[in-house]
Amino acid sequence: MNILVINAGSSSLKYQLLDPENGVLLAKGLCERIGIDGKFTYKAEGKNTLDAVDVAMPTHSEAIQAVLNALTDKENGVVSSMAEIGAVGHRVVHGGEKFASSVVITGEVMAAIEECNPLAPLHNPANIIGIRACQSLMPTTPMVAVFDTAFHQTMPPAAYMYALPYAYYENDKVRRYGFHGTSHKYVAGRAAAMLGRPIEELKLISCHLGNGSSITAVSGGKSVDTSMGFTPLAGVPMGTRSGDLDAGILQYLMNKYQMGIDEMLNVLNKKSGVEGLSCVSSDFRDLESAAGKGDAKAALAQEKFAYEVRKYVGAYAAAMGGVDAVIFTAGVGENDKAIRSMVCQGLEYMGLKLDAGANDVRGKETVISTADSKVKVLLIPTNEELMIAMDTAALVK
Ligand code: ADP
Repeated sequence: MNILVINAGSSSLKYQLLDPENGVLLAKGLCERIGIDGKFTYKAEGKNTLDAVDVAMPTHSEAIQAVLNALTDKENGVVSSMAEIGAVGHRVVHGGEKFASSVVITGEVMAAIEECNPLAPLHNPANIIGIRACQSLMPTTPMVAVFDTAFHQTMPPAAYMYALPYAYYENDKVRRYGFHGTSHKYVAGRAAAMLGRPIEELKLISCHLGNGSSITAVSGGKSVDTSMGFTPLAGVPMGTRSGDLDAGILQYLMNKYQMGIDEMLNVLNKKSGVEGLSCVSSDFRDLESAAGKGDAKAALAQEKFAYEVRKYVGAYAAAMGGVDAVIFTAGVGENDKAIRSMVCQGLEYMGLKLDAGANDVRGKETVISTADSKVKVLLIPTNEELMIAMDTAALVK
């Protein structure tokens, strides 16, 4: 069964059509500048590519119509009719405490997703618009919501509670939710397959290191702790996000520079992280090249990032009482051998030995620890769309 995977943002929409049974990607692309001037991109093996061509997209409906037209196009399409699209899987950022797994979308589910809007005001409303547009164009096709937060709903209270007055949890739902759940779940499943062991008996630490980064402790296939928190600002430093910091800094800087909370949060979300620290870039390729030319701040930003990731590896090994494998995934994790090597530095004491030769690799599912390393180190390219398609197919069967 072919599954259409939709990831709708406020002015953009990513899509893929795949067959989750064999993992074959039939087509993928992007609608950009929805509500502005509409740009459409479409790629399918052996077909003509459309690269940011003008297509009027006043709303998400026209964007999704453009996707369906392209997929079923006589010449460049990959299916002969909409009937060959078995179901649609929608990425939804926040499922709050209501959703611990993916669900078939019903009226009730839509209402529950809307209730989570205050927890992700920039993302959930756009996800909902994407679902509604799809429903009106494909009224008989089953739809599934796959949440970034769902995988982490298995965390125990000691991991998800903040040490704040309890009422903020009870009345206001303030707790750790965690994100990137679809990615962590996917790579954990692949790790079990690579190790040839049942996931139920494995302790894994998944390092999703991209523009946004999060580390997750996966014990017996379940998330038991994760570095992002109530929002995706928490945890390790990221491209432009600060990660964890002392909240007292906010009061100090806001008073000193007469900043409001929105301005302060903008600094923490958009001007901090490795970009803020390096004064160079949020992109790890730029850091590597600047550090190579002797830029001390770029080198510090790399070192700080790797140091914080390494601390989470140690913390999560302690949280789980051991670790069988550490996984590197996402843009930085899959491509940056220098960062992987820096993260693994000094972890030999816990039986983790990176193989420098094997680590000299990019974007390939492979073991990068030495043969005698007790803790395996795995490079696993993430595939959130495939995970969404797999969940969707399983639910609508
Ligand atoms: P997002 O969080 O936006 O999904 P990705 O997981 O795609 O991000 O990661 C994007 C980041 O990956 C880039 O900002 C860059 O820092 C890093 N990256 C991509 N390719 C390389 C590479 N060859 N070497 C080092 N870093 C890379």
